[in-house]
Amino acid sequence: MEMIKIENLHKSYAKLEVIKGIDLTIKSGEVVCIIGPSGSGKSTVLRCINRLETPTSGRIIVDGKDIMDPSTDINHVRTEAGMVFQQFNLFPHMTVLDNVILGPLKVRKIARNNAESLGLSLLEKVGLADKAKNYPEQLSGGQKQRVAIARALSLKPKVILFDEPTSALDPELVGEVLEVMKKLAAEGMTMVVVTHEMGFARDVADRVIFIDQGVIQEENSPREFFSSPKNPRLRDFLGKVA
Ligand code: ADP
Ligand code: MG
Repeated sequence: MEMIKIENLHKSYAKLEVIKGIDLTIKSGEVVCIIGPSGSGKSTVLRCINRLETPTSGRIIVDGKDIMDPSTDINHVRTEAGMVFQQFNLFPHMTVLDNVILGPLKVRKIARNNAESLGLSLLEKVGLADKAKNYPEQLSGGQKQRVAIARALSLKPKVILFDEPTSALDPELVGEVLEVMKKLAAEGMTMVVVTHEMGFARDVADRVIFIDQGVIQEENSPREFFSSPKNPRLRDFLGKVA
């Protein structure tokens, strides 16, 4: 079953055309990693999927709903497609637990005690149950990102979009975040992951996509993608990052 279907996506910022015709289908349970140089449009694609940006043209279907259709509830689309950002985006004045349960309280309007037990179970899942009462500033970057993942899970999304989730972390903290992501993948979560972590892409992705100059230049199983890249720009890119 198709979780996300993108057809001929174009996106311009004023006169700058950033996405120049992208087609991409992601099946339920699939993990797709997107790699590519800085400025190539990776974040823009993710942000179009949950309507943080409005596509200039094209079609995006998320879980059967056309997100451009005026009758589609955008807030509902955002609950279906959770997002994890490079910079965590936690609220500094709220405890870890309150950060995690904000969505369930505000969007789902569930009772506080139910939200708290949900939040604690999600914190347990990311290995941070003991930090529930702490504030974000008391956590390491890796812990903050794991809280952000718990928060993304709190609305029970159908897919999670990760935008360079480990790029802001000190190298020794990257592994703990990737471990949590690996666990989610193993549980069958549908994931779209923009990343520079080639090891993660190789081990966890079902498919790897190379975006450059606003188009998909190459798309393959991780094995083929890394062992026999065909596009010269991808070969050049892999040569620089590997
Ligand atoms: P990536 O995530 O691959 O680094 P982005 O999708 O963030 O690339 O950006 C692609 C291009 O679009 C870049 O040239 C960037 O400067 C430009 N861009 C991104 N967001 C905006 C915006 N809100 N307004 C204008 N230009 C933008
Ligand atoms: Mg980006």
